[in-house]
Amino acid sequence: MVEIRSVHKSFGSVEVLRGIDLEIAAGRVTVVLGPSGSGKSTLLRTINHLEKVDRGWISVDGALVGYRKSGDKLYELREREILKQRTGIGFVFQNFNLFPHLTVLENLVEAPLAVQRRPRKEAEATARRLLTRVGLAEKADAYPRQLSGGQQQRVAIARALALEPKLLLFDEPTSALDPELVGEVLDVIKDLAHQGTTMIVVTHEIGFAREVADTVVFMDGGRIVEQGPPAQVLDRPRHERTRSFLSKVL
Ligand code: ADP
Ligand code: MG
Repeated sequence: MVEIRSVHKSFGSVEVLRGIDLEIAAGRVTVVLGPSGSGKSTLLRTINHLEKVDRGWISVDGALVGYRKSGDKLYELREREILKQRTGIGFVFQNFNLFPHLTVLENLVEAPLAVQRRPRKEAEATARRLLTRVGLAEKADAYPRQLSGGQQQRVAIARALALEPKLLLFDEPTSALDPELVGEVLDVIKDLAHQGTTMIVVTHEIGFAREVADTVVFMDGGRIVEQGPPAQVLDRPRHERTRSFLSKVL
């Protein structure tokens, strides 16, 4: 589903991704761990076209992200093609990023109406089904400010699902939440994982990684230091940097 090859990315003179190689099969859950500043968010953002890579390439479901191929050459995609690719990739941010002036239901139907040009009736029916799925059917007419952080994040997840993405990216989805609200959001993500959604989750929740991840990736300094099944990376890490990081977050 996702193939990442030799991806490099710099901001000015600082190289933030220093040659990332990663493959993710359809239906698998990949958890990305690593210290602050190691490049985790930048990696997710390149997959979703929010950043352009300097070298290397990424493909999602067979389509090159940001480029098309002609012969041996890569050509940058036009804005419209990028938008189209991006609708196939759901992104859930740390800070929910809901539209504050729209109700929960309007937050969910906005993109299906504007981007996919779906009929309103159908978009609303899908939105209500998704709200039921995240346990918030009764909040359809509420505004984001009337919800707890955990509820807002569940709405954000439902909104990401409304475009029926083939890939879901989560960037520290529970980091902005009070501790007692973390569980309800992780439960929704676990539920999606068990239904075979392909996802990449950046999180410091080691228990979640252990329970849900097929692969755990540990990043440091813009590189993947090690990756493997949770039992290997979390319980028998091969690298000192992984051990030292885990000893701080566990
Ligand atoms: P992480 O998510 O692992 O904490 P990030 O990918 O956010 O790491 O950031 C990696 C490095 O890139 C950091 O040093 C950060 O300051 C830098 N960085 C991220 N985005 C930008 C940007 N838009 N401009 C300049 N530097 C950036
Ligand atoms: Mg980050």
